[in-house]
Amino acid sequence: MRLPIAALCLVALAAHATDADRVLRGYTAADSATEISWEQKFRALPDRDRIRENMRRLSARPHHVGSPYDKDNAEWLLAQLKSFGLDAQIEQFSALFPTPKSRKLELLGPSPYTAKLQEPPIPVDPTSSQTDEQLPTYNAYSRDGDVTAPLVYVNYGRPEDYEVLDRMGISVKGAIVIARYGESWRGIKPKVAAEHGAVGCILYSDPRDDGFFRGDPYPDGPMRPAEGAQRGSVMDMPIYPGDPQTPGVGAVPGVKLIPLDQVKTITKIPVLPISWSDAQPFLKSLGGETVPEAWRGGLPFTYHVGPSTAQAHLAVAFNWDRKPLYDVIARIPGAKFPDQWVIRGNHHDAWVNGAEDPLSGTSPELEEARSLGQLLQQGWKPARTIIYCFWDGEEPALLGSTEWAETHDKELRQHAVAYFNSDGNDRGYFHAGGSHSLENFVNDVAKNITDPETNMSVWKRVRLVDIAHTTPADRREIRDRADLRIPALGSGSDYTVFIDHLGIASVNLGYGGEDEGGGQYHSAYDDFYYYTHFLDTTFDYERALAQTAGTMVLRMADADILPFQFADLADTVHLYVTQLKSLADQRRDEVKERNREISEGVYQALYDPKKTLVPPKVEPVPPYLNFAPLDQASDDLTEAAKSFDAAFAAAGGVAPADLNLDLIRSERLLTNSEGLPNRPWFEHLLYAPGFYTGYGVKTIPGVREAIEQSQWPEADHQIVRVSVALEHEVDLLKQATQLVAARPAE
Ligand SMILES: [Zn+2]
Repeated sequence: MRLPIAALCLVALAAHATDADRVLRGYTAADSATEISWEQKFRALPDRDRIRENMRRLSARPHHVGSPYDKDNAEWLLAQLKSFGLDAQIEQFSALFPTPKSRKLELLGPSPYTAKLQEPPIPVDPTSSQTDEQLPTYNAYSRDGDVTAPLVYVNYGRPEDYEVLDRMGISVKGAIVIARYGESWRGIKPKVAAEHGAVGCILYSDPRDDGFFRGDPYPDGPMRPAEGAQRGSVMDMPIYPGDPQTPGVGAVPGVKLIPLDQVKTITKIPVLPISWSDAQPFLKSLGGETVPEAWRGGLPFTYHVGPSTAQAHLAVAFNWDRKPLYDVIARIPGAKFPDQWVIRGNHHDAWVNGAEDPLSGTSPELEEARSLGQLLQQGWKPARTIIYCFWDGEEPALLGSTEWAETHDKELRQHAVAYFNSDGNDRGYFHAGGSHSLENFVNDVAKNITDPETNMSVWKRVRLVDIAHTTPADRREIRDRADLRIPALGSGSDYTVFIDHLGIASVNLGYGGEDEGGGQYHSAYDDFYYYTHFLDTTFDYERALAQTAGTMVLRMADADILPFQFADLADTVHLYVTQLKSLADQRRDEVKERNREISEGVYQALYDPKKTLVPPKVEPVPPYLNFAPLDQASDDLTEAAKSFDAAFAAAGGVAPADLNLDLIRSERLLTNSEGLPNRPWFEHLLYAPGFYTGYGVKTIPGVREAIEQSQWPEADHQIVRVSVALEHEVDLLKQATQLVAARPAE
């Protein structure tokens, strides 16, 4: 209804009119108007001061898995949820979580040095002095070990860094490698080092990547100080995350545990993280050639690859205990479709005080739950069941979410509609990644959220920022395409089990990009003082996160017909297939060119007697792959999606309720219960974290990784598997199209 008062302000009238005249996807016109009004009421509720107080309370003491304050926080969250009128409980699990018993790192030889391995308290930062409760700096799921060996610098420790070392004739066999943090997920670094024969691995934070080279160090600025170090897991999570002793099943009392010596996800060599202050003497001890330009860090001396003449001594031992996990779960029963579940989650555990990671996501999430409690009191009843989850044990290995989802595996595969995740949240631009059947949905919601700094929608702002920052080709696409593309999800937060293992359509969302962040990542200095001085100091984007994630939950939970959309999915699959083809072509061209250079004598010409150069070997030229089944499936999907979306639009939100059941299955059909090659836990055929990237996503991973690893028959086999899954999706969409077309009379 238009009230005369709106005429007083033309801008408000225009904004209001477009909002109210719009019919939301999956809603009838009448239900859409009701929903829009509830959503507007909801978005008025989240309160910055309450979010700030949530963060202050939850970050007051260190709260890692197994610590007293981790449990205390879980109990406080439970009490809060109950006070909002929600039905909440703690679900408890247990998991292997090693903590340090002893850590030693020393440089032997003429200038000996013993690493301090301490993050000292900083006077202005009150919680940085809680050293008794802090976990020491270490990498969880490093094996025990005591090794003495020369050092070799391996840059970021990615597979391609070892190719450079090979050309230089440097082997890491029998050495301890020193790698800088960054560019790949940390767990990949010891994995690749061990594959190349290293006996130990030191990870350090180079100031070029997150220290003084980038900005003022803490506490003058947000960047990592000299003695700051990055804790973190080095478990081989691309094989499977969660409790290492119970892959695929929930870690509940009485479950059978895999013996420790048979666990595949613990590192093969000992690992320890250090600050740049501790790293300096080790880096200075390196001899050998000067590093290539791209390998230089920000410290004021020449970096060499090594090996060092002096030996390094690394000794670590851990308590291999199982620790309790406290997941806090609240449920709002659905009034119309109680067996369809919309799930929202963020973790509550941290490495230390964890104000940014994870509490800048947890604190708004709790405020969302409070706001939903308020809506319930005002008479709102969600159509679907809503489940709010506060996960424990994300930091070590996504423990709480994985064990919960594995425990409820059967129910979730049947009932879960979608999962919405957040983690650390900062000031700046909206970002979201996830399932492409939800790409249109994510775009739609983002158009309704007001950016606190510019007052344009967060969708419009990120679209314009993307236009400014991208290539001409991508710029053209952003301007022409109705929806902004969302990236696929790799790993690195609690959505992993939902999308990759169970095939539940998932979205990970947040804000960021305006502050130079990341400097205190997994450090004792990621705390309330740090967040409130250097990140979202006004809590405007904390509020925006609560508004955005809450609107997604509300709109998905209340829809008459689930607002999944498949044209964007089909378009994305088509893009991935194109990328795979050019990857295969590129690999073939590279090998051909290198073989030709070898036969032309290029490497003899490059020979410098003062330097070592090991020429590459002639390789067999990669064969052509048969992409026909994928081309066919991709075209079929495009056609089926077009027909479905047209029928859906014509139905105006009216369709048999069974259609929802088909739509829930649409993401499941993109999985295969046998999983990916060598990692059956990962069932999704379109998205997975890379075997050698860790967090970074590999799309159509079975095919892509086979090409990258030159496994040609495997690549052809995987092309067929993915095509079969896509054809099943096509069949489902055809069936769904018939259902929509056969809708009952209005
Ligand atoms: Zn986190």
